[in-house]
Amino acid sequence: MLRGMQVRNESNRPWIFGWDVDGTMRGKDAAANAALAKLHQTIARAQADCAPVFFGPVTGRVRASLKKLAEEDLTLGAILRAADFKITGVGTEIALRGPGEAFKPVAWPLRIKEWGRLQLENALCERPELHPQPAYAQNPYKLSFDVTGIPEEHHATYLHELDDYLGGKGLDEFRPHLVYSSGRNLDVLPREVHKGTALWHAANLVTSRFAIGEAEPWRHDYPLLVAAGDSTNDCDMLAAADRAILPGNADESLVQWAADHLSPARYHLAEGHCAEGIMEGMAHFGFPYA
Ligand SMILES: [Mg+2]
Repeated sequence: MLRGMQVRNESNRPWIFGWDVDGTMRGKDAAANAALAKLHQTIARAQADCAPVFFGPVTGRVRASLKKLAEEDLTLGAILRAADFKITGVGTEIALRGPGEAFKPVAWPLRIKEWGRLQLENALCERPELHPQPAYAQNPYKLSFDVTGIPEEHHATYLHELDDYLGGKGLDEFRPHLVYSSGRNLDVLPREVHKGTALWHAANLVTSRFAIGEAEPWRHDYPLLVAAGDSTNDCDMLAAADRAILPGNADESLVQWAADHLSPARYHLAEGHCAEGIMEGMAHFGFPYA
């Protein structure tokens, strides 16, 4: 039976959940692990009911890194095998899975050929505080650096400074999307590629893929997108989603960003940490299985 034929949410909209992985789906202790197992059970109940519920991880890790982590962390591996989509590389990679199928990468990003990756890399490598991450953390649409030596009081203005710097280098035409998180990570992406646009694209693909035929009365309803994340590399998807969940362990800078940018009804700052916080947020927004 296809999902959506039996149980529907109150508003008749499919639910789509996009969750950051490190610090959101998973934490470092046994309690976080137990909460992730509970989250898996919650999702499994919805899937067993053929409810119109779709979910996937949305992580900064590239595809191979998430795969390796899922092999080491069995709880994470189990829930990821039940996912409908996987968004990796800060939104630069999307893979989908149909019922009973293996994950397959989809064409993404769309319509981007040249985004100045080499020129941007050359210019940014001249900055003393930026250190390129190893080759396995990079991909053709993602240029990532470790950042050192930026005092905390300068974190808020750091991206403006970098933007000005790239402009000064004559790279205005490329204007990349810059994602700075936790005071130590910088991801440089093509302008319209990030966790938010990737989640939208994946949401469109999964709902259109599943909603074929007359049997699914929810097929004309827009999905309700619910995202969860713990650091500022999640801002794009939290802003793109209809509802946002911040687990209790979220970075202070993200909590401040949410207060400044999201209306209070649109986001929930949970008390629970990691997956516990995700479930708390799902219940807060009325997900019937939470
Ligand atoms: Mg995180």
